[in-house]
Amino acid sequence: MSRTVVVTGSTSGIGLGIARAFAAEGANVVINGFGPTDAIEATRRELEASAGGKVLYHAADMAKPDEITDLIATAARTFGTVDVLINNAGIQHIAKIEEFPVEKWDLLIAVLLSSAFHTMRNAIPLMKEAGKGRIINVASAHALIASPYKSAYVAAKHGILGLTKTAALELAEFGITVNAICPGYVLTPLVEKQIPDTARERGISEEQVKSEVMLRLQATKEFVSIDEVAQTAIFLASDAARSITGTHISIDGGWTAQ
Ligand code: NAD
Repeated sequence: MSRTVVVTGSTSGIGLGIARAFAAEGANVVINGFGPTDAIEATRRELEASAGGKVLYHAADMAKPDEITDLIATAARTFGTVDVLINNAGIQHIAKIEEFPVEKWDLLIAVLLSSAFHTMRNAIPLMKEAGKGRIINVASAHALIASPYKSAYVAAKHGILGLTKTAALELAEFGITVNAICPGYVLTPLVEKQIPDTARERGISEEQVKSEVMLRLQATKEFVSIDEVAQTAIFLASDAARSITGTHISIDGGWTAQ
């Protein structure tokens, strides 16, 4: 029987890549995120055509707990349960702490950290009932180390690693694993948008942001690809990964090795 996979923030970038990889395996996939209605419907059809699983779009705003509850309830109502939950939705804001807008701080913490608590608290009872489940949190190298001007992002990503470990301990005896993936820089719209802001904060050119800031510590000097992250999610959701829980897999070209 097809697995049901919910991927938050999957209208773009890494989340879309993960949704694509699970759809290609024939899973039923619930996609979520913002974007133009026509483009989202085209994506939904494209994913559904790939291997015969059903693909549903749910527009839940990951900053709104009630909408997150409805996302998981809709997935369960439509497909029977949630087998794999991927917490991926993300945004960024770059500013010095003393200039960081309070509403941006609250929004980043809500979307990057609290949303995973809300998806999990709704999905865990379904997984417990099924006696199995996989929860995969797309964290970041910034879950392990910091960079200046990204206080909310770094705090939320460090937080999600704590949530990952706690949930793994609570769920270990229920056949449910909980892990994080920590990518280095992947060239997605989220990263492309922060290049001009970082250039302004640091007083350097956009090319310098790529080579001297983003790839400076990424030892391979290459961006990580979306598919590398997606295939790691596929592995963590596989039977072969059943004893991997409460940990993270870094895909950062050696960044956090130094
Ligand atoms: P992206 O901007 O391409 O995609 C982000 C997705 O999240 C989009 O679908 C967007 O619509 C959705 N989203 C944003 N706010 C939302 C909200 N309130 N409710 C619902 N959906 C919302 O970004 P990406 O680079 O693919 O990032 C995906 C995840 O990967 C994020 O958690 C990010 O922190 C993490 N990550 C990215 C990189 C990178 O270099 N790109 C590195 C490490 C970790």
